[in-house]
Amino acid sequence: QSFKSVALIVGVTGIVGSSLSEILQYTDTPGGPWKVYGVARRPRPTWLAKSHVEYVQCDVTNTEETISKISPLTDITHIFYVSWMGNEDCSMNAVMFQNILNSVIPNAPNLQHICLQTGSKHYIGLFETDTPESHDTPYSEDLARLKQPNFYHNLEDILFEETAKKGLTWSVHRPALIFGFSPCSLMNIVSTLSVYAAICKHENKPLVYPGSKASWNCFVDAADAELAAEHQIWAAVDPNAKNQAFNCTNGDLFKWKHIWKVLANQFDLEMVGYIEGNEQVSMEELMKDKDSVWDEIVKKNNLMPTKLKEIAAFWFADIAFCLENVLSSTHKNRLHGFMGFRNTYTSFVSCIDKMRAYRFIP
Ligand code: NDP
Repeated sequence: QSFKSVALIVGVTGIVGSSLSEILQYTDTPGGPWKVYGVARRPRPTWLAKSHVEYVQCDVTNTEETISKISPLTDITHIFYVSWMGNEDCSMNAVMFQNILNSVIPNAPNLQHICLQTGSKHYIGLFETDTPESHDTPYSEDLARLKQPNFYHNLEDILFEETAKKGLTWSVHRPALIFGFSPCSLMNIVSTLSVYAAICKHENKPLVYPGSKASWNCFVDAADAELAAEHQIWAAVDPNAKNQAFNCTNGDLFKWKHIWKVLANQFDLEMVGYIEGNEQVSMEELMKDKDSVWDEIVKKNNLMPTKLKEIAAFWFADIAFCLENVLSSTHKNRLHGFMGFRNTYTSFVSCIDKMRAYRFIP
């Protein structure tokens, strides 16, 4: 088969990487037909076995390994960088991205475009840093960088420098909280909440909301992983999207108190929600002894084997459940021609459906 475009997805098993790998294989995807290389550090997971992705197992923090495994892929035309190392260290996250670019740019003569995924932390600062000077909402793409270290700045600077040297085009994608199905993501809020609900069900407990009152009541925005993938593919092929940063959200708003009802319904649980007067309780703390409970649930329901710490990021839910008023403008997307949208509640349920279809959750 001859291909019009050749993608390198760095982070192919991640929350957006897995959706990108699916969508790039559809016959009607813009820019196609696509050949797809996918990179991740762990061995190819069984749930990705049926996909046509040419899987490259590579630890991209390792410079020599990256050069030796990625530089032979000389037919790459587009890079989709949807990875991070799992902590916010600026220099190591930069090394990962630089290793990829150093391996591809000098060796792939038809390389055209690089998509870099960052996120709303561009506007609010890193989780690990106190941010006295965060921007007012809704965030627009042209806001000045916060004056504090942020690995997103390092990645952007590498992107700008390397693409300018070779006349390549780029796009930066800043999704809101992502709703996806991958069990290999470091931050998957839907799998985290589904696992929490499954544990409540297993223990005959009602579904209590452990977050703050403010987060229960406020508006939040999210980005469906498939929409985030479509957004990057749009930018990769559409001349109107070149050399720009774009927020990425579903285009609607949601509230955790409404999602909570949907979650309770999905797992047939009594919905208690936020208990008036309660302070936020750490989910990470609540779930810290539940590894063996999850093992039991996996066994009882004949699920795909996963460890609690892989499929659920309770620390991430703790952050999501104390934030308020983190909202991004989507105006620039429409102005440049991206009209994609999702209903966030439908997106939430379809992620649960998909995780069930893959037997990741009961
Ligand atoms: P995920 O955690 O979902 O996926 C990370 C991917 O990168 C996995 O495929 C993982 O594979 C791979 N990976 C990690 N380390 C290495 C390594 N050393 N070598 C090779 N592959 C590696 O990523 P996200 O999409 O969540 O994150 C990408 C960016 O998006 C980050 O900057 C994040 O902050 C941002 N973002 C995420 C949001 C979310 O809700 N998840 C929301 C908004 C922005 P393996 O497991 O095998 O290591």
